[in-house]
Amino acid sequence: MNSTTPAPQIKPWIEALAPYVPGKAKLDGRPIVAKLSSNENPFGPSPLAVTAMQAVLANTNRYPDPASTELRTAIGALHGIDPERIICGTGSDEIIHLVAGAFAGVGDEILYPRYGFAVYDIAARRVGATPVVAPDLDYGTDVDALLALVTPRTRVVFLANPNNPTGTLISAAEVRRLHAGLPSDCVFALDCAYAEFAEGEYEDGLALSDAHANVVTMRTFSKIYGLAAQRIGWGYAQPALVSAMHRIRAPFNVPTTGQAGAVAALGDTDWVEKTRSHTLEWRRWLTEQVTALGNKGLRAIPSAANFVLVEFPAEGTLTADKANEALLADGIIARYLAVQSMPRCIRISVGTEAETRAAAVSLRRFAGID
Ligand code: PMP
Repeated sequence: MNSTTPAPQIKPWIEALAPYVPGKAKLDGRPIVAKLSSNENPFGPSPLAVTAMQAVLANTNRYPDPASTELRTAIGALHGIDPERIICGTGSDEIIHLVAGAFAGVGDEILYPRYGFAVYDIAARRVGATPVVAPDLDYGTDVDALLALVTPRTRVVFLANPNNPTGTLISAAEVRRLHAGLPSDCVFALDCAYAEFAEGEYEDGLALSDAHANVVTMRTFSKIYGLAAQRIGWGYAQPALVSAMHRIRAPFNVPTTGQAGAVAALGDTDWVEKTRSHTLEWRRWLTEQVTALGNKGLRAIPSAANFVLVEFPAEGTLTADKANEALLADGIIARYLAVQSMPRCIRISVGTEAETRAAAVSLRRFAGID
């Protein structure tokens, strides 16, 4: 190319953006014993959702309902909220991007906790806003640290609760204290992707969204509902916020199959309950297994989600990168978090009983126990 011909200019904030690194889905040539890298539902979607998706396949020459009307109605009925205030997205990933795009831009700040969900950084940089990262509290959310970093330029605060990749949860009172400390012109985006796995009193954000003009609550069908491949998430907020987000969303952002599958999945409360009780039982079991390796320097961070974050010693023979290799050699794909500035950590999703046991067996062997 002629050196005098100007090349397209990539925006500096896009140039500065490190792309999302998804969990590994394949092993080179070897069979996978357990894929525990993306916090998916190990049982799959509800059979009712599969039937509902199959039933609409022949209609997929037509564009989907751009308003996801039936799905919003079903979500509204389940949660007792106004369907008009719900916006569906191509995964809750899209809702995160819509929040950043509608409320922040160049010169603005978007604030979130260190070890928050990786897409917050991408969403902030994508729109040219400055990401501001608050220190963590032993991997968890530090409300005071977040509040201390709020400035007149803070346009959005993202908080995942339970958080991914740490699994940490802050109390309902702490969530409300964070919101109460934010200026009314700062959007509080509360990401409840793992809400169904939290135990005890829990702030799901819906009443906060009803009561305040600056709260967006976000949910997903990718986790407990087992529909990750269909890409369906939703947000809930007051009309002014929802209408701003609608303006910039893709017009046909949730496929017909996803809409039909999600409506059916909402109706299969037995499937949801089965996944929930299994996840809580095996999350506890996996946490205990890791805790039993405490004398080897391994530590399980207490989790309120469908995975467990394991911290390894910083040095020696039992480091996280070596553990990751050992797990992979046993056919177990977990999420080694060096790319998220957590070189000592591996996140292990709760799988089926056999998968979760296989992960624990592999970890014990790695630690020299068996
Ligand atoms: N928020 C959090 C905290 C997540 O962990 C994830 C998925 N890993 C998402 C949002 C996005 O989920 P999805 O786009 O599949 O709805």
